[in-house]
Amino acid sequence: MSCNPAFTEEFSERLDDSKYSNIRHRIIEKIKIICEHPSIPKTYFLHGDLEGKRSFWVSKKIKIIYAYCKLCRRLGHIENNNCQDCQDMDDETVVFFTFGYHEEVYS
Ligand SMILES: [Zn+2]
Repeated sequence: MSCNPAFTEEFSERLDDSKYSNIRHRIIEKIKIICEHPSIPKTYFLHGDLEGKRSFWVSKKIKIIYAYCKLCRRLGHIENNNCQDCQDMDDETVVFFTFGYHEEVYS
């Protein structure tokens, strides 16, 4: 089953940012893959400030940070994820928080 994507303001703004225009198509491609397979083993849970969120590599340097709401709730990650409106989201929702170069995502 495929999930519905939900985007934070930050994610949408970055997607529109000309700074990322050269990788936009790859981000969109990955969004589709993640929505098809929200629990793919290539992803992993982050730790520290981003605990509960998952990341997916777009390239060696660029990552997408997201959460799968079904697991957000089941694992009690809503607060950690700062997953706004999580309770109102469908189980099969993937929230995309941000993407960017390693340094940006972790700053
Ligand atoms: Zn959530």
